[in-house]
Amino acid sequence: MEITRNATVKNPPEWFTGDVWLDPVTQPAAPGQQANAGIVRFAPAARTAWHAHPGGQTLHVLEGVALVQARGGAIVEVPAGQTAVCPPGEEHWHGAAPDSFMTHLAVWDTLPGQPSAVWGEHVTDAEYGAR
Ligand code: MN
Repeated sequence: MEITRNATVKNPPEWFTGDVWLDPVTQPAAPGQQANAGIVRFAPAARTAWHAHPGGQTLHVLEGVALVQARGGAIVEVPAGQTAVCPPGEEHWHGAAPDSFMTHLAVWDTLPGQPSAVWGEHVTDAEYGAR
């Protein structure tokens, strides 16, 4: 058994709006290892840019209310204790509600030779406010 503690890192502004921190749970993928997990903390109104995961992604909300949206769909509120499942390749974003912090556990698979996420444009204030 190995006990690890990865340092908190701030997510890069190229791919996020507002302050978002990541606590990696899993170590960088070893050969043959595909599952990855991290705890992500969003400040109020902070959110990812539009993106897709080639291997899909599962988001379990631990605190607050998450806002999630798939391209072409409505913005959905996901409260703590519920889970959003993003199929492989589905373009989406996720973030905090305007008035509170939100923390979710993110679990995703990396496919051989592919990035964990393919990033697009930022979610505009108009898109974020379109609830
Ligand atoms: Mn995602």
